Amino acid sequence: MCGIVGYTGGSQAAPILLEGLARLEYRGYDSAGIAINNGEKIDVVKAMGRLAVLCDKCGNGRDVPGNIGIGHTRWATHGRPSDVNSHPHVSENGRIAIVHNGIIENYAQLKEMLINRGRVFKSETDTEVAAQLIDYYYNGNILEAVARAVRELEGSYALGIICADEPDTIVGVKSHAPLIVAYGEDGNFFASDVMAVLNYTKTVSYLDDDEIAVVRSDGIKFYSPFLDEIKKEKYVVDWDIKAADKCGYEHYMFKEIMEQPEAVRRTIEPYIRDGRADLSDVLDREYIKNVSRIFIVACGSSYHVGVIAKYNIEKLARIPVEVVLASEFRYCDPIIDKNTLVICISQSGETADTLEAQNEAKRLGAVTLAIVNVEGSAIAKGADKVIYTKAGPEIAVATTKAYSTQLAVTVLIALYAAECRNSLSEDEYGIILKELLAVPEKMMKILNDKANIQYLAYQHFNNEDLFFIGRNIDYALSLEGSLKLKEISYIHSEAYAAGELKHGTISLVVDDTLVIAVASYGRLVDKTLSNALEVKARGARVMGITTESLKEKVAKATDEIITIPDTHEVLLPSLAVLPLQLFAYYVALYRGCDIDKPRNLAKSVTVE
Ligand code: GLU
Repeated sequence: MCGIVGYTGGSQAAPILLEGLARLEYRGYDSAGIAINNGEKIDVVKAMGRLAVLCDKCGNGRDVPGNIGIGHTRWATHGRPSDVNSHPHVSENGRIAIVHNGIIENYAQLKEMLINRGRVFKSETDTEVAAQLIDYYYNGNILEAVARAVRELEGSYALGIICADEPDTIVGVKSHAPLIVAYGEDGNFFASDVMAVLNYTKTVSYLDDDEIAVVRSDGIKFYSPFLDEIKKEKYVVDWDIKAADKCGYEHYMFKEIMEQPEAVRRTIEPYIRDGRADLSDVLDREYIKNVSRIFIVACGSSYHVGVIAKYNIEKLARIPVEVVLASEFRYCDPIIDKNTLVICISQSGETADTLEAQNEAKRLGAVTLAIVNVEGSAIAKGADKVIYTKAGPEIAVATTKAYSTQLAVTVLIALYAAECRNSLSEDEYGIILKELLAVPEKMMKILNDKANIQYLAYQHFNNEDLFFIGRNIDYALSLEGSLKLKEISYIHSEAYAAGELKHGTISLVVDDTLVIAVASYGRLVDKTLSNALEVKARGARVMGITTESLKEKVAKATDEIITIPDTHEVLLPSLAVLPLQLFAYYVALYRGCDIDKPRNLAKSVTVE
């Protein structure tokens, strides 16, 4: 969600901050602003709406002199989007300016305390309270004032602070929200997301909760909450800024759909050794033998990966798997012991619900394994074990390549666990591994045949309500197909286990209702087709998604058809998700939607 960036160095700060904010636009926001210290005072420019409005207001930054500043894109939580509620917020006397990601939960008590001491507030935000509190404790040293003030803050925050009286210092501090610092050639940075600085440097340090960074043009220092100086490691990020460009595509989402074959190949490759799926560096073989239960904990599309993984891990490795929404896991009193493996899946590695669920799992004694896309992220750092997906930067809010790479990792886990537990024949193991390695090439084939999907999207983009049905892994995949469509096209849809529709929901099927039947799973295809015929009998129009070898059969029970190459059943969703993504994409395109930045959504959800 929202983004923060700061810079101090030899160049004019405002244009650099605006460029950094542009790199963070993908995260979702409703207003933007910058604050620049020009050596004498702090100038603030902020505006509700797109970043372009802010850029217009300040000549793309040129009109605001000064070499040190902070910038923010806001995703409103406290107070509606407006110019005055936008960040940066300044203390009443104009001395302190801050940007903030997150939520200060005890802001009301603090605000009351400050009002009782005569402070006057301009905005409705929790953030302004932090600005005033820091100023309240300011006694000639901004580092000390921040350290003192944050002791009183509860909730989640990444803060960037500048002070008019200390014109070469930015202070950064965080708790339960991401914050990095970065080392440039012509100055130094802090940011909520490495994307903001990638154009200038790839060398970064990751702040841990409650650590404080003092960023100056000639260096960066780190302090514990009690102001002891500490050392932090530097990391070189392996993302390329080009990977974050559109490269001629109209939308990031489309580019990212097209990148999936390569992303999956890159993700699985490090774990294939001597013709085996080898996760022994991550998960000890003896431990896997003794695992009694797996929880998969995630949100949104990552949760849908978990639903497919449940079918596959149970099928191949015979370990009971429970998939729980991260926002529920924390509060459901999960039954956990040391033989429970808790797998947390998150693209950003910063998803607040998943992070808190992981903390709860650790507290209860589970071993935790994180599947994340962002190195150094909070979930990666907090987990006992980590498997990185190698999707590269994913900019479109609706996930595609992160989903596919997560799914591929779960197949690796299923295979590895099956080998450790001796629950799969050598023949079948060999077939699945061969098919896993063939996924990128088969994905390419689907992507090359996308014209048919585009045609079907054109036929149906005016629908306002539709259903996805499927059984087993086809049902699990339908959940993702439905979510993708809802996210970017704003069409209402629901995913149903095909056998469940008749238990109530079929009452919503009328003439011309579109039903997408995912019917790739050979063992249950006849059952799914019976359900397709049931809805057809009530006037529905049915689009089937199936494999080459089931095509003829499925065509008889459906009105339109999309085919995918044949593969082993555990890998069917890895292929069948592509037509669903493309269908959602083209429908959204024909409806004129803002595909990369759907309304109300944020890329990395860092609040609970
Ligand atoms: N809670 C703050 C606000 O509503 C920060 C929101 C954000 O993370 O952008 O202004």
